[in-house]
Amino acid sequence: MCGIVGYIGHQKATPILIEGLKRLEYRGYDSAGIALVEKEGLIHEKAAGKVKTLEELLINKTFASHIGIAHTRWATHGVPSDLNAHPQVDHTGNIAVVHNGIIENYRTLKEVLERKGYNVISDTDTEIIAHLISMYYEGCLTEAVRMALSQVEGTYAIAVIDSRSPEKVVAARNGAPLLIGQGEGENFVASDVAAILRYTNKVVYIEDKEIATITANDFRISTIEKIDITHKVEEVGWTLEMIEKAGHEYFMHKEIHEQPETLRNAMRGRLNLEEGTVRLNGLTDHLDDLSKIKRIIIIACGTSWHAALIGEYLLEEYAKIPVEVEYASEFRYRSPIIDEGTLVLVISQSGETADTLAAMREAQRRGAKGLGIVNVVGSTIARESDGGVYIHAGPEIGVASTKAFTSQIMVLSLITILLGRMRNISYNMGKEMIEALQSLPEKIQTILDNEEQIKGIAETYYKHNNFLYLGRGVNFPVALEGALKLKEISYIHAEGYPAAEMKHGPIALIYENMPVVVIATRDSIYDKVMSNIAQVKARNGNVIAIATEGDTEIAERVNHVIYIPKIKQCFTPLLAVIPLQLMAYHMAVLRECNVDQPRNLAKSVTVE
Ligand code: GLU
Repeated sequence: MCGIVGYIGHQKATPILIEGLKRLEYRGYDSAGIALVEKEGLIHEKAAGKVKTLEELLINKTFASHIGIAHTRWATHGVPSDLNAHPQVDHTGNIAVVHNGIIENYRTLKEVLERKGYNVISDTDTEIIAHLISMYYEGCLTEAVRMALSQVEGTYAIAVIDSRSPEKVVAARNGAPLLIGQGEGENFVASDVAAILRYTNKVVYIEDKEIATITANDFRISTIEKIDITHKVEEVGWTLEMIEKAGHEYFMHKEIHEQPETLRNAMRGRLNLEEGTVRLNGLTDHLDDLSKIKRIIIIACGTSWHAALIGEYLLEEYAKIPVEVEYASEFRYRSPIIDEGTLVLVISQSGETADTLAAMREAQRRGAKGLGIVNVVGSTIARESDGGVYIHAGPEIGVASTKAFTSQIMVLSLITILLGRMRNISYNMGKEMIEALQSLPEKIQTILDNEEQIKGIAETYYKHNNFLYLGRGVNFPVALEGALKLKEISYIHAEGYPAAEMKHGPIALIYENMPVVVIATRDSIYDKVMSNIAQVKARNGNVIAIATEGDTEIAERVNHVIYIPKIKQCFTPLLAVIPLQLMAYHMAVLRECNVDQPRNLAKSVTVE
């Protein structure tokens, strides 16, 4: 989801729009563009890369326009390129659209449009909106937008201009933020108040399924069903810096709190409840091969490697396919055995991780099909892989990964359902799994709402220098991830261990100053974990347990309990990791660390 800014009023539009785009740069993006209505008609300029590149394109041109829209794109459909950048324009060259979000039924709509003779030239889902508006246009832009959106499924914030009606900007939203900024003889539209705060702090938030028609002196809002709406004008009291982080002190905190939404985005348009399975467009060309694979190797580094371990549990349990998880840096320098039935899955948030990319190339050289699970569309791994699935987590700015991690697990869960349904899981099981996944965002929200308690625990322990994290089964990788988060951002030494392995070594470290975090959810190995807890307590260790809501028994045996809602056992990592992210975050803040940019770490590790 990236940035939109639109302007109509007494000033020249271009400098205001460019300034607005610059204010949106902090969100991360891959291309930028602008559309204006000049005397000779609609003009648009766009370019892959930074806003600066766009500015260079405009440098020797003068524009008189008082109306325009602009965009920073974070690609979801089609690589970042000049052609795929927004604004997307209809075939008549009159209508320009900028869009944040994902149109789920764009393939179907594209077929319909192509049958009617429309020539779709970009790879974006957004271009479809421009053609649909054009198709319905009968003199009134607002009505054409209304008709077009009635055909569209998915999330969007859009702003539209039409050279035949240079007195208005039409904007609409469903599931992606959008607001109107009110000025004197001028009005703005933006996806984020940061874009317009320099000019006004009076805003009106557009709600889902509403359309706004904005002129220089006025704006009207109505629902898609044509019912007029009035919203109150609110005054924004935030500074620019506060807005960038949506009121959070750090991006990492914001990203932790985004997880209900990012998981919804990872599922969007992919669940098929009627058939108890999923549809993953990036894999549809490979379904035949996927039904035949005998073995999967998952390759990753760091946090993605932990997601891969969780994927191993899921895939072996439900798809009954043997899985090996490899560190990319290790895989690439041995002579891995890859036969005809081997599928290689690589996981990388940035899609640029040097070791992961090299490992994927090595696997492909040996004849394997390499599929990617990646966040950044059009990244090198996304381009060079034979197929794959985007996690759609949006730009992750905090160096320590949080929302990308849970979205990677989500995508691995979806792949598990897909492969499982081709093999041995029943329709009922597929449906049960999908329903469990659908319940996750709300359950994560209840954990986030309990942040104060988690912060309290952080306050008790942040001065300690060593931590142990224990988990078993599918929650063992969660213990690894919890320890890694703490290390990365607070510089506290922490180790993750399979709970039962503790007695083969780390138990020697246990004493009253060694906090032990144990994931002890009510599942098939609960009793075993309880025995491990008893071993820690017998040596005066302090135990912080992540337990299942309603488990009062555990409260008597440990020092602190953080409850998480009940969920199908295989999906507990998606809940259990949330309090660990929050705990690491609060300890780092208490230790006055730079949470978003920990020392020595880089967001995208493009070196070996
Ligand atoms: N789905 C659109 C695209 O890929 C919009 C992406 C965005 O939100 O920036 O072009």
